[in-house]
Amino acid sequence: MRLPLSRAECEQWDLTDPLAAYRKEFRLRPGLVYLDGNSLGALTNRAVEHVRAMVEDQWGNDLIGSWNRHGWFDLPNRLGAAIAPLIGASADEVLVADSTSINLFKLASAAAMARGKRRRIVTESGNFPTDLYVLQGLAQLTGGAVEVVEVPREKVLKAIDESTFLVVLTHVHYRTAELFDLEGVTTRAHAVGARVLWDLSHSAGALPIALTQSRVDYAVGCTYKYLNGGPGSPAFLYVRQDLQQSLRPALSGWMGHAAPFEFTDDYRPGEGMARHRCGTPSLVAFAALEGALKALGKLDLTVVREKSIALMEMFIRGVEALPADYGVSLASPREASRRGSHVALTHPRAYELVQALIGHDVVGDFRAPDVARFGFTPLYLRYVDVWTALERLREVFSGGLHCQLPPRRSAVT
Ligand SMILES: *Cc1c(COP(=O)(O)O)cnc(C)c1O
Repeated sequence: MRLPLSRAECEQWDLTDPLAAYRKEFRLRPGLVYLDGNSLGALTNRAVEHVRAMVEDQWGNDLIGSWNRHGWFDLPNRLGAAIAPLIGASADEVLVADSTSINLFKLASAAAMARGKRRRIVTESGNFPTDLYVLQGLAQLTGGAVEVVEVPREKVLKAIDESTFLVVLTHVHYRTAELFDLEGVTTRAHAVGARVLWDLSHSAGALPIALTQSRVDYAVGCTYKYLNGGPGSPAFLYVRQDLQQSLRPALSGWMGHAAPFEFTDDYRPGEGMARHRCGTPSLVAFAALEGALKALGKLDLTVVREKSIALMEMFIRGVEALPADYGVSLASPREASRRGSHVALTHPRAYELVQALIGHDVVGDFRAPDVARFGFTPLYLRYVDVWTALERLREVFSGGLHCQLPPRRSAVT
């Protein structure tokens, strides 16, 4: 792959970048190289406008009448429909509600109620902790009737058998960015009659996904990472159309009732995805997400993916050119087709390395015990930013700046 070889050439590439226009949608402090959009996406102007309108005009002026006048009640479906094309789903297959952790529980528990005689959920050991913890809690809730089988990645396919009712996997691994073959695993699970629930937290908005076409059963994911919905923004969940009517929620809140404003005593599940609403959503947070999704417009994820790969390739080549005695190694797959949109490096003092870089306006993050992660968000990152990041990385190492920091860690790393 040909890549820019000087700062001037980076600037040239940035001028002809088909995604260049997106950067002005975002509020980024000048001088900052933000390589953490995989953890918390940047703020958009649109999100600011939408939150202001929600608070001042809607809540402020129209108060409770806003539920009808400003379409508050339908927001979970409207935002789901806006996310749908980004994950290859149809508008009526996606709902925005709650958090990713809660949506995982909602779908896994609903699948458990429909499991028949099958007892097992198969997942990957080292999966994102919330995915494991939520499944472990579900197994306990069933008094052990449901069993969670956690196996390393290379054993996942083998572990899926006739006793499996659900396979729960994360498409892009949060630590290494390694990709699962979403379609291949889904097909294998279906071959033995199991269903698949994909966690798309590090995928949505970063690379093309075709949920419906890949016959994926269920999916969940974050909106505050590559979708830039804001800190703690509501998550999405997806259920394939033909499975929706037979999937009854266990977390059956009043908002998911077929007729919530009839206030009857007995639960009747709402149509399609509506049943997965639980309680009253956090509307200010919904407003921020609505703005962020408007800023994405009709995003072409193949173009996003191409640029993400080029940015990562440039970064990895720069890291590979560092002297071996700096002790950095690549923890992500070297091959771009097996990697999501972040690059993980291991280093014995990864925490101090990340802190030293943050001190020089290059923001990545640290994942225990020894991983430094750098996310590449093509909508607001320029080639010249990667150039700067590599310059600062060399400065930190050559000056030993990461060795001068106290090893005290903050609560969030
Ligand atoms: C970020 C992330 C989550 C976050 O879940 P929350 O409920 O929003 O805290 C879940 N799963 C994966 C794989 C993630 O990367």
